[in-house]
Amino acid sequence: MSDVLARLRALQQGDLPTHGGSTLAYVYDSGLAEADDIGRQALALYGATNGLDPTVFPSLRTLENEVVGWAARLLQGDDAVGTVTSGGTESILLVVQTARDASPGVAQPSMVLPSTAHAAFHKAAHYFGVRAIVVDVDPATYEARPEAMAAACDESTVLVVASAPSYAHGVVDPIPAIAEAASARGIRCHVDACIGGWVLPYLRADGVDVAPLDFAVPGVTSISVDLHKYAYTPKGASILLHRTPGLRRAQYFAHADWPGYTMLNSTTQSTKSGAPLAAAWAVIQHIGDDGYQRLARTSYDATLRLAEAAESVDGLTVLARPATTLIALQSDERADVFTIADELGARGWFVQPQLSFRDQPASLHLSMSAATAPRLDDLITALGQAVAAAQTAGPVKIAPELAEAAQAIDPALLDEAAFDGLLELAGLGTAETLPDRMAPVNALLDIAPPRLREALLIAYLDRLMRPTS
Ligand SMILES: *Cc1c(COP(=O)(O)O)cnc(C)c1O
Repeated sequence: MSDVLARLRALQQGDLPTHGGSTLAYVYDSGLAEADDIGRQALALYGATNGLDPTVFPSLRTLENEVVGWAARLLQGDDAVGTVTSGGTESILLVVQTARDASPGVAQPSMVLPSTAHAAFHKAAHYFGVRAIVVDVDPATYEARPEAMAAACDESTVLVVASAPSYAHGVVDPIPAIAEAASARGIRCHVDACIGGWVLPYLRADGVDVAPLDFAVPGVTSISVDLHKYAYTPKGASILLHRTPGLRRAQYFAHADWPGYTMLNSTTQSTKSGAPLAAAWAVIQHIGDDGYQRLARTSYDATLRLAEAAESVDGLTVLARPATTLIALQSDERADVFTIADELGARGWFVQPQLSFRDQPASLHLSMSAATAPRLDDLITALGQAVAAAQTAGPVKIAPELAEAAQAIDPALLDEAAFDGLLELAGLGTAETLPDRMAPVNALLDIAPPRLREALLIAYLDRLMRPTS
């Protein structure tokens, strides 16, 4: 047995560190060893339970109602109800499905999204046949434009979306105006607070001037908030809140017309582990309101300090003043952000490259965890060095013919051999190992139109995921 676990530990050596505060996307570290330990123990205790049926595992019902109750209080939903889901994407899938199914009379339903809305809404559009009507955000502030969004609504609109904050830029949309316009048209308004919903209320309690985002705002009908981000719980836990039970009804699914048990589900999963819920409950109880207020303050202050430091690095700018714990950085023409990311990686810091989008240049995303705060000076030093090194190296150069060719390719016409060739060209030819430096890959992807990027990366993933014996 110890052999098997030793092999797992050995395999993990190749992964990004989940703790220690040097990974600034994907994982969120409170820095509280005891909270992590409690979460791990709760996972182990509940690993074999099944959330399929809360009447046979009544403890799961208790835990879910308490966790949802905590979130409803935090987000000022006096009559709110909710569901614990497996993650932000599932919460978003469910809110889109619910809005669609609550309007059975709408033949071709659509939803209005700011261009900064999370990609999960596009996944929901794809899964549920709800058209995504995308409205550009303000190019200066990256905030959604309520009037343009209202103008984009019509009889087919079943949902309007705002973010608190947006993942890419860390900007909170003007939610009162968006929700009011939706409400005036009888349309549901969802606030995607997946990444800010457990931070902003605590910042407000700590005296920060926080933009309105929750059920105190008239017209907001649902809110998603992830626990596995800034509630610092183990992966696999998010909450979808609805303002009233009636708004949730269409989310539930039952099927009695088959020979087995009557299926009755609140989420897309049916059999589901109770472990993430139990772990979330345990970590939340342990950290508590005071703990979360301190963690939110610590990571927010660190984010603002990082923003200030980044602005003082020659060649670097902050896209928007951070509203929470997220920050997006952009470089001038002397260096590309992809090389800066590689240089940070070489110094032990992982940041997330974001490809250019419409007229917005490529950028770097950093999610600040509380565990990064004590190491902030090191991060700031590394950032300065990384920018200097990237300027010395200069931006990755892409041959203009290649850029032109990329615009002309129709991904729908590519066969597998063509994908093999293109992946080779992009430096992703062998699935065995990733290139040491991702900048050349990212720079190539960056010149490709989004549809081609998607097709190439799907082809790559297809080649990565092949069974081994
Ligand atoms: C993380 C995130 C999501 C998606 O959540 P997952 O847990 O990755 O599925 C959606 N919206 C926002 C704003 C997010 O930050």
